[in-house]
Amino acid sequence: MSRIAKNKNGFPPKICTRCNLEFEWRKKWAKNWFDHLHRKYGALKDADPKDDLIVLVESARMTTGRNWHKERLFFLISSARHFAQSLEEEGFTVEYLKAATTVAGLKEVQKKYPKLPILCAEPSSFRQFEALKAHRVVFIENDFFLTPRPLFQSWAADQKNYLMENFYRKQRTRLNVLMEGGEPSGGSWNFDKENRLPPPKKYEGPKYLEHDRDEIDNQVAIEISHKPTSTWATTRRGALAQLKNFIKNHFAEFGPLEDAMTTDNWALHHSLLSPYLNNGLLHPSEVIKAAVQAFNTGAIPIESAEGFIRQVIGWREYVNGMYWFLGLITGTNPQEFLEWMREVFIDASEWVMVPNVIGMGVHADGGTMMTKPYAAGGAYISRMSNYCKPCVYDPKLRVGEKACPFTTLYWDFLDRHKAAFVKNHRMSQQIFGLNRLSDLPQLKVRATDVLEGLEAGTI
Ligand SMILES: Cc1cc2nc3c(=O)[nH]c(=O)nc-3n(C[C@H](O)[C@H](O)[C@H](O)COP(=O)(O)OP(=O)(O)OC[C@H]3O[C@@H](n4cnc5c(N)ncnc54)[C@H](O)[C@@H]3O)c2cc1C
Ligand code: SF4
Repeated sequence: MSRIAKNKNGFPPKICTRCNLEFEWRKKWAKNWFDHLHRKYGALKDADPKDDLIVLVESARMTTGRNWHKERLFFLISSARHFAQSLEEEGFTVEYLKAATTVAGLKEVQKKYPKLPILCAEPSSFRQFEALKAHRVVFIENDFFLTPRPLFQSWAADQKNYLMENFYRKQRTRLNVLMEGGEPSGGSWNFDKENRLPPPKKYEGPKYLEHDRDEIDNQVAIEISHKPTSTWATTRRGALAQLKNFIKNHFAEFGPLEDAMTTDNWALHHSLLSPYLNNGLLHPSEVIKAAVQAFNTGAIPIESAEGFIRQVIGWREYVNGMYWFLGLITGTNPQEFLEWMREVFIDASEWVMVPNVIGMGVHADGGTMMTKPYAAGGAYISRMSNYCKPCVYDPKLRVGEKACPFTTLYWDFLDRHKAAFVKNHRMSQQIFGLNRLSDLPQLKVRATDVLEGLEAGTI
């Protein structure tokens, strides 16, 4: 799908390119996907259909370069094509190029319009930033987050440790969200104590919103040989419907059931908004505005409002800020885990994956982000979900054939890193528990069996 400039005066005076479109592997690094798909932010903020040509490049290396989960590929390509269509409907000239790589696509456009500047919002990954600098790209501040990168840098530079909670409180004040007379609404910054409920027995959450497929969706589905689900919207309108659905049907319960899990309902009251926040179909300010408006009607308890807002203005911004502040990458096993997650997660973006996976998920950053590892055994999963009852394993057991793999590996993990955790006062209870285990030798044997079973696909 591509078009040539149709402006009356021949060539438009500049090219706005949505150029960080490609997930491209070159010496094992990633460029971001289509992630600036919003008319009012980034390079399109001041764009004018009379003057500007919009360029989107769909690269073959992107679509075929890795073993992408088809649903993710479908979501990203279809969202971009819908976005291109909406710009055309607004009167823009849009060049949607299919090229071998993003750079090849850009070069093609540069050849056609050699004198025109290329404008692009600052990319969301280091490598892409570097690559685009080499291609005469003029960068516009990336305003797809609520915190400008220099502002986060100045906060982080003043910190002894980078506690998210400290950053979050600053955000609440700076953005004036859930604040009353300079104090946090409800008298507390954080209501997490109220937000740890397991799912009520036989709990049936509201149904998920389904999204109809249109011609563009069907075309993309055929091209990539995929039968898409109806879970993910691929248009701005669908993303807004998802936001509305969350606010109406899920927001009130979001907080208390935030950590709950059930077999019947895979996301419970989570918003499912991250793919749209990450590709630009929604801007975080729109999400926050809708959340605050709903809270102000009195229909949303403070623990849900605060819990959700913390995710968006706290965690999301913090993770992005830390990505640019630290640039973490270890190059070892966590990296392999990261690569797998990149391939299969619908909302995977470079900035969010690296700190979450390396820092939060697998604690491979030396504890810079999280003061204690995000690790749990079967007992916690059993408490917070209804997964364990029908399971062949027993979450209480750590040794033997019936031992829950999570429980075994949890203790094994603590044991392997005992020397590091012993210095961490937040881990003292766990280490105390570990020291009291009388069956540690058997546990180590079971852990080896579990890991072998996982490798062989028998567990
Ligand atoms: C190991 C690991 C990997 C992750 N990988 C990703 C990823 O690839 N892409 C991604 O968007 N999120 C990732 N997250 C963060 C978080 O789990 C997802 O944003 C969330 O599950 C998305 O579902 P939701 O939209 O229903 O979120 P909700 O629970 O409804 O939260 C609302 C929003 O808050 C934001 N948010 C919440 N927590 C985080 C966080 N830790 N980092 C950044 N944003 C956050 C998201 O935009 C999310 O949509 C990861 C977390 C971990 C621990
Ligand atoms: S593997 Fe463990 S945590 Fe998972 S369902 Fe079975 S018993 Fe529960």
